[in-house]
Amino acid sequence: MTRGIPLSPGASWYETTVPGIPSHPALDGSRKADVVIIGGGFTGLSAAAHLAAQGADVVLLEAGRIANGASGRNGGQLGTGQRAWPEENEPDLGYERTRALFELAEDAKAHLLGFAKTHDIDIDYVAGQISVVHKKRYLREYRDHVDIMASRYGYDHFRYLDARETEERLGSNRYFGGVHDSATGHINPLKLALGTARVAADAGARIHENTEVISLSSTGGTVVAETEQGAVTARHGFLAVNAYRGLLEPMTTAHIMPIGSFIGATVPLGDDSPVIPGGESVDDSRFVVRYFRKSKDGRLLFGGRETYSTNDPDGIREQIRRQIAEVYPYLHDVEISHAWGGYVGITIPRQPYVREVMPNVISAGGFSGHGVMLSNFTGRLYAETLSGDRSRLKLLEELKIPAFPGGDRFRDPLLFLALNWFALRDRF
Ligand SMILES: Cc1cc2nc3c(=O)[nH]c(=O)nc-3n(C[C@H](O)[C@H](O)[C@H](O)COP(=O)(O)OP(=O)(O)OC[C@H]3O[C@@H](n4cnc5c(N)ncnc54)[C@H](O)[C@@H]3O)c2cc1C
Repeated sequence: MTRGIPLSPGASWYETTVPGIPSHPALDGSRKADVVIIGGGFTGLSAAAHLAAQGADVVLLEAGRIANGASGRNGGQLGTGQRAWPEENEPDLGYERTRALFELAEDAKAHLLGFAKTHDIDIDYVAGQISVVHKKRYLREYRDHVDIMASRYGYDHFRYLDARETEERLGSNRYFGGVHDSATGHINPLKLALGTARVAADAGARIHENTEVISLSSTGGTVVAETEQGAVTARHGFLAVNAYRGLLEPMTTAHIMPIGSFIGATVPLGDDSPVIPGGESVDDSRFVVRYFRKSKDGRLLFGGRETYSTNDPDGIREQIRRQIAEVYPYLHDVEISHAWGGYVGITIPRQPYVREVMPNVISAGGFSGHGVMLSNFTGRLYAETLSGDRSRLKLLEELKIPAFPGGDRFRDPLLFLALNWFALRDRF
């Protein structure tokens, strides 16, 4: 890929779980469609599946392979709510909007599980999520969060865990406590993405891999996506490029920043391993969050290091092994069979960026590390919008997302400095 789109490093362990990944032909000449979708991750694929099911004529263009951006390589943790807790959003957004956004995320969770079930996509869902506290002084906030969610948001699936129970559930004494969520869980994201592509193609969407859009324009009600293999002309365009945004569209580039995040998969740990005996997924209270869980075949999938530049990372294996050893000292020399990375799209308030960036072209991304359920649902909301109901997409469109400062030249170095400061703060 050329025009500034970052490359995802390493082959993921997920790829070994899906033998014979199907390929889709590159575009070979100009086409017309009702909707042109740019980006073959969860957001674009979900939009394609729902639009095609509504009878729209859809062309989806993907610069590389389907799901080789964040969607096929992430931690697979669904979570609950938006990236920021409701009590963090409430002062800015007010109770009604915060509650509506929380309910939207609950709809997103139900949608993801329902979509997979309806279309017979085996996503290896395992229930249970634990958010753990790495600094004692955060315990109070986590305990209050359980109460606030039950009393103000009607969510009573959280349970506070003290240090002893946290240790039992993780097989590690490195955390001071946590919150157990029984109404969410984790999945194999690649299986979901490829399953969604299959549903979209079966419904008639035309999917083209290895087809990079090099320019996008919208004039007089006509959207044109140019590629080296031909142009797609459509009435609507959906820009679903997230952190892989390159320089195609300046608004998206200014509002969504790519941050490298990396995962290592160990060899299977064996049935008698004390690591997470209940099979939950775990995330911790660091700003530079660590997230881990066991795979279906007993590996520890550990994601931790985030780099705050778009450079290709070296030594993912060593970095991840060091982080695993901090949580699980008895795994200090564990073999890491797979190490890979991808780019998370973040925004300043860590809320999604959804905007009509030119007439009839909506851009959606910046799910800030919380996109497994939200990106899929945003694709569905886009389809809903084109069928005449924009009310739910509007909730996201109305979020105030400032541009990153610094312009094209200084944006990356400034972010590098700011986020390294947060990483440092996690340590003290
Ligand atoms: C390592 C990692 C771990 C993560 N863990 C979690 C997690 O546990 N839970 C969670 O909720 N979220 C997690 N995320 C975030 C989540 O994966 C994303 O929010 C989600 O996958 C975004 O989907 P998307 O379709 O918007 O973007 P992507 O999946 O990144 O897809 C964008 C696609 O657009 C294509 N593209 C870009 N430019 C062009 C162009 N010019 N022409 C054609 N195609 C183009 C790219 O090639 C790419 O395939 C993680 C992300 C990473 C990287």
